[in-house]
Amino acid sequence: MRIASSDAGAGAAVTPPSRVAIRLGHAGQCFLRTRPGIERRMKSVAVFPRTRELRIIDEPEPVIQSPTQLLLRILDVGICGTDREICAFEYGTPPQGAAHLVIGHESLAEVVAAGDAVETLRAGDLVIPMVRRPCTHDHCAACRAGRQDFCSTGDFRERGIKEAHGFMTEMVVEEERYLHRIPRTLRDVGVLVEPLTIAQKALIQLWDIQERLPWTCPHRSGRRHGHCRRAVVLGAGPVGLLGAMALRANDFETIVYSRDRAPHPKEELTRAIGASYVCSEDVAPADLAAHVGDIDVVYEAAGASAIAFEMMHALGANSVFVFTGVPGRRGPVQVDTDALMRNLVLRNQVVFGTVNAGHDAFEAAVRELEGFVARWPQAVSSLISASHPLENHRELLLGRPGGIKHVLRMAA
Ligand code: BGC
Repeated sequence: MRIASSDAGAGAAVTPPSRVAIRLGHAGQCFLRTRPGIERRMKSVAVFPRTRELRIIDEPEPVIQSPTQLLLRILDVGICGTDREICAFEYGTPPQGAAHLVIGHESLAEVVAAGDAVETLRAGDLVIPMVRRPCTHDHCAACRAGRQDFCSTGDFRERGIKEAHGFMTEMVVEEERYLHRIPRTLRDVGVLVEPLTIAQKALIQLWDIQERLPWTCPHRSGRRHGHCRRAVVLGAGPVGLLGAMALRANDFETIVYSRDRAPHPKEELTRAIGASYVCSEDVAPADLAAHVGDIDVVYEAAGASAIAFEMMHALGANSVFVFTGVPGRRGPVQVDTDALMRNLVLRNQVVFGTVNAGHDAFEAAVRELEGFVARWPQAVSSLISASHPLENHRELLLGRPGGIKHVLRMAA
């Protein structure tokens, strides 16, 4: 029998062990699962890069193969720009030896069964799977320390993106160490945890970097340490708006800068979280500081390099510019490198890029999302424009559906 590999990495044919101890149902109940007589099958959304196809495939369900693994039912999968690029065959690599890649990396799942050595999770728990898996090189200090989000070799794998099958499927098997539990109260919006980890990883680094100088705001009861700082979010897609929420939660004065002209649902959402909104057609990026005041942080989430580098001219002293977008190749743009370099030096500025996320950012994202829901319930749920059945995958992945975040609901 051919089954999906446990880590979804190789995609190679693997024979399941005939007896694996797993826990089903309530903790404590222990069953021995024998080689199943009837093979259960499931549907997945896959790309075939060689033949440039996107289609639903029918495969056997994976089975737990080691005591540290869990069987998960996928509930929701978010669709992002990376998925669309994979479906346009600009990005994405199937597992070694496989012709296809099951896509999807922003997910929410429910534990169906847990291997005997699983310690912290049980059937019924809701979990968010992490995306990146470490490279195998001894000299990659980051991967060896469990920080594959900082992998230095580039030989990491990413579920649904690079050499590992993803989550746009019905069932997956995953190792406990790559899962983060979320409370049931986040059932409807938990799929936003993964895109929120981008902002959380950026913020963790921002605070670390700014320890280079006296920067955090003085303690004020009931306020977090960003309360005397101003941040600009470049782009009002899901990553930008979640970034704006994260900055507001840290009490930064936050300005979302986007090309959509108000009145617009993104502008309404921005105001609902106590941030302000500036349309790029009204104020040029380089003039933004004159308009809103000194800028301490730019959180770039638009993936458009020309506007980002223009915005860099607006940065104030001791400020930080964070890149999170991955631009397509649109050809060279003119940049005033002398001016940028002068500012970087004479104003002590820092520019950094950030990708993927570690355990700390996942934990922070779960915590913060709970806070966002308590504080701005309407705004958080309006980030999800619609939940769709699997059959809608083509129009969502190949078209331009508008709205903010679209989600495929794989199971109720
Ligand atoms: C994902 C990250 C991933 C990155 C690069 C993003 O869309 O959220 O987890 O590391 O793409 O592949």
